[in-house]
Amino acid sequence: MNNTNTCTKYREVAIELGDCRSCQGCIDLNPDVFEWDEVLDMPYVCRSKVTEDEVRDIMNACPEDCIVFVDC
Ligand code: SF4
Repeated sequence: MNNTNTCTKYREVAIELGDCRSCQGCIDLNPDVFEWDEVLDMPYVCRSKVTEDEVRDIMNACPEDCIVFVDC
């Protein structure tokens, strides 16, 4: 039995762009998961399958709480 809080299961992450303020914090923290779209001037997800551990910090730090899991 695994008693740690570390989760290695892959989840599907997305950005709710309607709430995004384009601060680029997600790219600063997770450049392998989020990239910047120069045309739209918005971030996008470049690798949607992530572990919860990988994106926990940015989910807590995003000023608009717009980084979400879209699986159940
Ligand atoms: S951290 Fe949140 S508000 Fe900032 S660019 Fe990323 S998704 Fe948008």
